Amino acid sequence: MILIDGKKIAAELREELKQEVSELKTKYNKVPGLTVILVGDMAPSQIYVRNKEKSANEVGLKSEVIKYPDTVEEKTILEKIEELNNDESISGILVQLPLPKHIDKQKVIETIIPSKDVDGFHPMNVGNLSSGYESSVPCTPLGCYLMIKKIEPNLSGKKAVVVGRSNLNGKPMTQLLLKENCTVTITHSRTKDLKAECLEADIIVAAVGIPELVKGDWVKKDAIVIDVGINKTENGLVGDVAFDEVSKNAKALTPVPGGVGPMTIACLLKNTIDCFKRAQI
Ligand code: NAP
Repeated sequence: MILIDGKKIAAELREELKQEVSELKTKYNKVPGLTVILVGDMAPSQIYVRNKEKSANEVGLKSEVIKYPDTVEEKTILEKIEELNNDESISGILVQLPLPKHIDKQKVIETIIPSKDVDGFHPMNVGNLSSGYESSVPCTPLGCYLMIKKIEPNLSGKKAVVVGRSNLNGKPMTQLLLKENCTVTITHSRTKDLKAECLEADIIVAAVGIPELVKGDWVKKDAIVIDVGINKTENGLVGDVAFDEVSKNAKALTPVPGGVGPMTIACLLKNTIDCFKRAQI
């Protein structure tokens, strides 16, 4: 079984991005800039944002974190986004989710100009992705996609099952696999026989949030299995895939932690650089 080492693949990607940033700097005499807006002091968000900033600096991006207390008015955030939309030195804007309840998440997402939407959540980017046009793609599914391509460069005709249909993970993952000419089944909480669906799959991407939902006898021999889940349990962090059981059948499997997680941040940097490049044309 191939253990898909997300840490290593992410480090390789960051190295490539660092090189690219250096070339862009030579060519345009400026570097891509990423601004992250962080509202409140929730510990996980603080950690994610710190890691994003550290990685952005490592590859040579200009990065900035703007912090607001969780009592901040929605209007203040929207005005700041407008300001960043008009700032030519900023290539990418990310508002760390979740937001406090009094702030309309969708309004925030839609205020970010699509060309700087490094999370790929703006409806224009969602539409472009599903129409097969160039767009920012949400970072986690993009990371999954790049890992799958490392194992199997030609996905044409493969049967893929995506477990979970969130806008963040399941739906964009489906679009990426469709673009690669996979036959894709998207499953969710109302799917009648998830085991039977998974048993058909050459590729399984599990993005559910239920510890070890996907069992060893749900997985066909030689399947590629990507585990997006991050679940805190008494036994520590576990994914949505029963790792020990599935590793006996699968051809390749991502661990949790150390699989999808590191790729998510590397893909945020990639998206920022891609936004910068599109803006130069
Ligand atoms: P979400 O928005 O809660 O969506 C979960 C999806 O799973 C929903 O579509 C839901 O179906 C489906 N589902 C629930 N129970 C199911 C069941 N028994 N069988 C099949 N499908 C079921 O979750 P998310 O934001 O996509 O996140 C999923 C997991 O990924 C979480 O553990 C999260 O922490 C993790 N995550 C990891 C990263 C990373 O960087 N590694 C990034 C983001 C998220 P319905 O639509 O029918 O409700």
